[in-house]
Amino acid sequence: MVKKALITGIAGQDGSYLAEFLLSQGYEVHGIVRRQSLENPSGKLKNIAGVIDRLTLHVASLESHLSLYKVISQVQPDECYHLAASSFVSYSFDDESSILAINFNGTHHLLASIKDVAPKCRFFFAGSSEMFGLVQDSPQKEVTPFNPRSIYGISKLASYHLVQNYFRQYDIFACTGILYNHESPRRDFKFVTRKITSSVAKIKLGLQEKLFLGNLDALRDWGYAPNYVQAMWLMLQNSSPNDYVIASGKNHSVRDFVECAFRYVDLDYRKFVELDPRFFRPSEKIPLKGDHSKISTELHWQTEKIFEEIVSEMVENDLKIFSNAQ
Ligand code: GDP
Repeated sequence: MVKKALITGIAGQDGSYLAEFLLSQGYEVHGIVRRQSLENPSGKLKNIAGVIDRLTLHVASLESHLSLYKVISQVQPDECYHLAASSFVSYSFDDESSILAINFNGTHHLLASIKDVAPKCRFFFAGSSEMFGLVQDSPQKEVTPFNPRSIYGISKLASYHLVQNYFRQYDIFACTGILYNHESPRRDFKFVTRKITSSVAKIKLGLQEKLFLGNLDALRDWGYAPNYVQAMWLMLQNSSPNDYVIASGKNHSVRDFVECAFRYVDLDYRKFVELDPRFFRPSEKIPLKGDHSKISTELHWQTEKIFEEIVSEMVENDLKIFSNAQ
């Protein structure tokens, strides 16, 4: 029997890599998209353009229980990967209602629907290092106390508890991957890595003069997105549901990223980068860095690309995009 997978956020960075990976494993792949995405496929669905003919897309909204319930009863998935979220980390708390509605209620609507109409479906939830928030120790493991400091982190942590309780109370195979930052040529432009690589490409091509950034000393644990979606899949092939940290286990600064990206095109970043107070955020005393030893030992997951390879691949891709756009 061909396995059926349902992905929320299928047109995003992770969803699109996961869809490609599952197709390569012989799955029938279904995805949930918003109506606006179908109306503008060349824009919102560009990440899945190469495989769209092999996917079944369903229009639904994370804010509508009924729409998700209908999709799950119709598809009867064997595996559901819940990746869609309002994903940008803001510390301003300006937009609490919509982030909570999409991130927490969306997870609840999916789990409740699975319990009612597809209780054998295995459920993966994309958690986040933001759940750890202001940490006391580094690196963080699955047992590290959570202390979220952003509404995004709070919404992810609340969902994480919900996921655990659907397993305990209803015996649904539901688990959370605690994902650290993961990048790729499909990363959205609002994240610092893509902002840097797209700017480096434009500067090299003479389309931009300066790159304005916030804290260059901020540290992140950056991994490779196509590698992280394999971890999601491995978690649903496990003998029982278990939560895992998915991380590279290494910290690099924004400055390291900038230096590496400019070096790739033979430029000195110091001539082009300027600091802009608008992009500064409160800095953490102890940076987020994940310990992936549990998933490496138990599920044999390995990190795939080193930092420099991820940076080069992203710059190379942006050079192609912006030279074609000229
Ligand atoms: P996230 O905050 O970890 O989800 O990912 P981002 O890519 O948005 O930010 C990563 C780090 O880069 C954070 O510590 C930011 O403070 C730092 N940073 C420095 N300059 C910038 C900038 O211009 N834009 C963004 N987004 N982040 C910046």
